[in-house]
Amino acid sequence: MGELAGTKTNLLGLTRSGLESFVVGLGEKPFRARQLMKWMYRRAVGDIDAMSDLGKDFRRRLAEVAEIRTPEVVVAQSSADGTRKWLLRLESGQAIEMVFIPEPGRGTLCISSQVGCAMDCTFCSTAQQGFNRNLDTAEIVGQVWLANRELGYSPDGDRVITNVVFMGMGEPLANYRNVVPAAEVMMDDLGLDLSRRRVTISTSGLVPQMMRIADETNVALAVSLHAPNDELRSELVPINRRHPIADLLEACWHYVEKQNARSVTFEYVMLDGVNDRPAHARELAALLRGRPAKVNLIPFNPFPGTRYRRSTEEAIVKFRDLLIKGGVIATIRRTRGDDIDAACGQLVGRVNDRTTIRLGQKLVALQTVRA
Ligand code: SAH
Repeated sequence: MGELAGTKTNLLGLTRSGLESFVVGLGEKPFRARQLMKWMYRRAVGDIDAMSDLGKDFRRRLAEVAEIRTPEVVVAQSSADGTRKWLLRLESGQAIEMVFIPEPGRGTLCISSQVGCAMDCTFCSTAQQGFNRNLDTAEIVGQVWLANRELGYSPDGDRVITNVVFMGMGEPLANYRNVVPAAEVMMDDLGLDLSRRRVTISTSGLVPQMMRIADETNVALAVSLHAPNDELRSELVPINRRHPIADLLEACWHYVEKQNARSVTFEYVMLDGVNDRPAHARELAALLRGRPAKVNLIPFNPFPGTRYRRSTEEAIVKFRDLLIKGGVIATIRRTRGDDIDAACGQLVGRVNDRTTIRLGQKLVALQTVRA
């Protein structure tokens, strides 16, 4: 929505019911919202004047008070493996990143929910820049809308983006107010029309918000666990001091029950010599055995200044095998896009404090560091 004084309402920030109230406020019938959504999302049209079945008068009045605005692409990069990354500039001048990961039969867009992050996980490069602000709903939906366009979306063609994961910059559940309506637009059949199991919110473990989301919406949940006991987890994921593992798991099982979901995915970053020992695998298996849980092992992606190293391939495979032997479903996440720093935890790692420097310098900084 237009947060800056004098700007028009950004229609990408409104859910279906929000859009209905908005058009009613302009003296129109609620069904106009459906027509509008078809233009915006089915046909990917961003120009209100081109929405030919809306009536000239309504279009004119609408265009006076509303528009469709997305973040702006500053740098677009492609990886040898087909992964793509965009550095985006927000209207406020700050920068975020999003990543598209193509795989056979599906395309996953990884989006950001905040500028920076306050969770302070020790192995994550986004943490280094600290927390700046929450994205609003339009800035979150706008990433998907923009990516569709960048990826050559056509209403008649096959869908390019089939999955959206909130695994870019930020802690999505710390921005509940904007993330939940954004997810709603993504799952609305008149919106981005993604299936409910294909929009995933990943959280470092904000237990109260996890309890709430189980009752209020219907997205898939991933939880960044990273350690099998409180001592180690509190060191890696500081929010664990407030919401320890027992409470976290309770919120997970509550979610599965409420949502009738099959399972929760637990992410576990593999840090050499820190959390990757066989004893850790056994402890983790004991924690999750017999529960609706899957573990996704993420090889650590290093960034400048980090004190951690990625676990060896053998350690990762052994860890997975021990989990499976211990009765827990486990997979290893293939690293994608690491040649363009698009892999997990690498977003906004190359330019220090990218959010506070001006765009021109930002570009220079990015190129200088990469050269
Ligand atoms: N704040 C949310 C979502 C963003 S991070 C969360 O914590 O879940 C998305 C995933 O990438 C998380 O599981 C996170 O722990 C992981 N990650 C962060 N830094 C990483 C790194 N350097 N290497 C590999 N994975 C990392």
